[in-house]
Amino acid sequence: MTGENEVKDSFEQFFNKTPMGVHMYQLKSDGQLIFTGANQAADKILGVDNTNFIGKTIEEAFPPLAETDVPDRYRKVASTGRPWYTEQIAYENRGISGVFEVHAFQTSPGKMAAMFTDITARKLAEEALTRYAVELEESNNIKDLFTDIMRHDLLNPANVARTMAEIALQEEEDPNIKEVLTTIFDANERMVELIEDASLFASLNEEKKISLKKMDLSPVIKHAEGVVKPMAEKKSVTLDLNIERSHFAVANPVIYHVFYNLLSNAVKYSPNGSTISVVVEDVDAGLLASFSDSGIGVLDADKEAIFERFTRVDKGGVEGAGLGLAIVKRVVDGHGGRVWVEDNPGGGSIFKVLIPSSQ
Ligand code: ADP
Repeated sequence: MTGENEVKDSFEQFFNKTPMGVHMYQLKSDGQLIFTGANQAADKILGVDNTNFIGKTIEEAFPPLAETDVPDRYRKVASTGRPWYTEQIAYENRGISGVFEVHAFQTSPGKMAAMFTDITARKLAEEALTRYAVELEESNNIKDLFTDIMRHDLLNPANVARTMAEIALQEEEDPNIKEVLTTIFDANERMVELIEDASLFASLNEEKKISLKKMDLSPVIKHAEGVVKPMAEKKSVTLDLNIERSHFAVANPVIYHVFYNLLSNAVKYSPNGSTISVVVEDVDAGLLASFSDSGIGVLDADKEAIFERFTRVDKGGVEGAGLGLAIVKRVVDGHGGRVWVEDNPGGGSIFKVLIPSSQ
């Protein structure tokens, strides 16, 4: 077998082996569209022996199509030569059903072919994806609503209760009542902190990009130290800040929460009377801030997990919600930076944060 025959043979093979179904038609002068043949895939897809229908009109051969605009579309293709594509043909006949994608094209004047594949699975997957996207948006809206409720409707009364307990505590003389008021004050303080942390965490949506610009982080770290100082003084913990000059990085003011959380953790997990030292250095990759404490330390096995939401390990009796380091990690990630914990050689831990100095 040579030349033309070989080519013809391979086209025939292609025609019969292709997984796409092919139906062929001829348009008669009376407007009837006559079915002239099909390939093997068409038999397989539709579960029929298509040769039975040769010579019949499209409407007789495939009754479900008579209900649609497909016969007219095909007639136009056969007469004008303009191809037609659709992926919307829902077909149900002789126990076969599905959604089909069809390419219809003229093969010679008055003749046309329709190539089709069953895309039911793809359509179902697309529908599921669309449904999922809608559900996701709804659940995001609910999350936003819940965050708003937390910030506006829960935080205010919690703050009021805390302030009232504080005022009553200052005026009360009876030690028993003072103890009760202290418990109320502490519980409210924790509640306010938790509401603030949870709504901050929720607002740091992973999808939303944090806007960054070059800024001096030295005053930000000093501000965090000022806020944590009263807490440190209660435990006679010394905050040793070695920041003499400006240190620039590409950051967003939300970075404050990183320094605040690392400093307040250092105080929380340190023994009374100890010292916490903060060192800031300019390194090649950016700004490196280290927070060293001599507290309870973090086991190697927990060094990564503690940065996950709600993970609390050895707490040394300290209260908390396990959100602080998750906030730290999310903010640092949003800056393209890195945060990790190392052992402090003298006991305790050193939390290190690297914030890039260029974008
Ligand atoms: P919380 O302090 O509210 O529990 P965090 O997310 O801030 O939540 O911290 C998670 C856990 O990491 C803490 O429960 C604690 O076990 C550990 N941890 C955090 N900071 C320190 C630290 N400076 N020293 C020892 N352990 C720490």
